[in-house]
Amino acid sequence: MKILKFGGTSVGSAARMKAVAALIQGDEPKIVVLSAMSGTTNALVQISELLYQHKNEEAKAQIDALHHTYKQVATDFYTSAEKQQQANELLNQHFDYLRAFTQDSFTTHEERAVLAQGELLSTALFQFFLEEQGINSVLLPALNFMKIDENEEPDTAYIAANLKAELAKYPETKLFITQGYICRNAFGEVDNLKRGGSDYSASLIGAAADADEIQIWTDIDGMHNNDPRIVKNTYPIAVLSFDEAAELAYFGAKILHPSSVQPAKQKNIPVRLLNTMQPEAKGTIITAESEGGKIKAVAAKDGITAIKIKSGRMLLAYGFLRSVFEVFERYKTPIDMITTSEVAVSLTIDNARFLNEIVHELEAFGQVEADQEQTIVCVVGDFMEERSGAALKVFEALKDIPLRMISYGGSKNNISVLINTPHKVDALQKLNEGIFEHNATNA
Ligand code: ASP
Ligand code: MG
Repeated sequence: MKILKFGGTSVGSAARMKAVAALIQGDEPKIVVLSAMSGTTNALVQISELLYQHKNEEAKAQIDALHHTYKQVATDFYTSAEKQQQANELLNQHFDYLRAFTQDSFTTHEERAVLAQGELLSTALFQFFLEEQGINSVLLPALNFMKIDENEEPDTAYIAANLKAELAKYPETKLFITQGYICRNAFGEVDNLKRGGSDYSASLIGAAADADEIQIWTDIDGMHNNDPRIVKNTYPIAVLSFDEAAELAYFGAKILHPSSVQPAKQKNIPVRLLNTMQPEAKGTIITAESEGGKIKAVAAKDGITAIKIKSGRMLLAYGFLRSVFEVFERYKTPIDMITTSEVAVSLTIDNARFLNEIVHELEAFGQVEADQEQTIVCVVGDFMEERSGAALKVFEALKDIPLRMISYGGSKNNISVLINTPHKVDALQKLNEGIFEHNATNA
């Protein structure tokens, strides 16, 4: 069994979806996981915001506009009048459902139901197309097996048991279509795996079905060694380890949702990143093994806040860091980087929602400074094998950039530095010249 996940741009129009249908030909058993058509989830988020603000007329206008877009998709997608009608009936149901929310006040529970419409639509429209083509496939409702628990973590035992039960209903079927992103929560309500979560769905499904391979299809030819929007001459990385991929995904490589590596790693299922626009390109394969001793890639994550706590009480004391960490724990705010000296500790967070509360509580321990508009630049590779000199290459390249924090040795896969965001472009370009162009001439 293979899992193939197609992102929003890969299903962004009737033509793109037809290309996906061509890519999933063949007798090998497959579960195809689809995102919403590109732009749809953003539109649903906007509609929800309007509904929260009681701007119901504006919300209705946006729902009508989205409905109009989808009617065009239905026109382009099917050749038979019968399928067009079937698709339009489906669209009417979904959009009337959305319009019903413009009648009264709006709740978070209803918002999640609104956000689920994108994936429900893309998969249903796609299934109609396969039917019209005479391709034998079954549309599996993700809401029947995908579930998160009370901590919003996937309930993997439930997912495995229920996915297997769904699959067992169709012993003759080789091709299954299902929704990414959407799930039920601990109360049985419709919920989701957070923005970009379709990759995570694919990986959870792969782990639950003991798949041979998980393929993530996007519109770029794999994970690149640096940010292609900022640096010229980037290239796809052929092989990454699970840990390297997780670091890159977390620290800014937009191509893969960071949580999606874990379920695949646990079951040791290779993840392949492939390009629908260039299906023959090799892309990136993420596996347990990787080439040792190499710097693989650079990624950057913006929107970071650095917090420094200076305290005489830290000197020779134990339990100090625990008290500091507990403050973050109370506000459910993860810490990314941390550096300490004998009298101060600096750390970073990317969710500044409770910054004021956190700073206020930390002031009980000493002097607190918070700096926003910071960027983590993360260099990923296999540094243990490199033995010596890897860090030197990184810092030589960054010699003209002011560094606010440095983190090395936390894992063998990562050297991270924290810089002011305005220095990011320069830092990524300098690292490219210092590491990869150097690699290229040595190759
Ligand atoms: N449609 C959802 C989003 O736009 C999930 C996904 O595409 O992965 O965030
Ligand atoms: Mg995505």
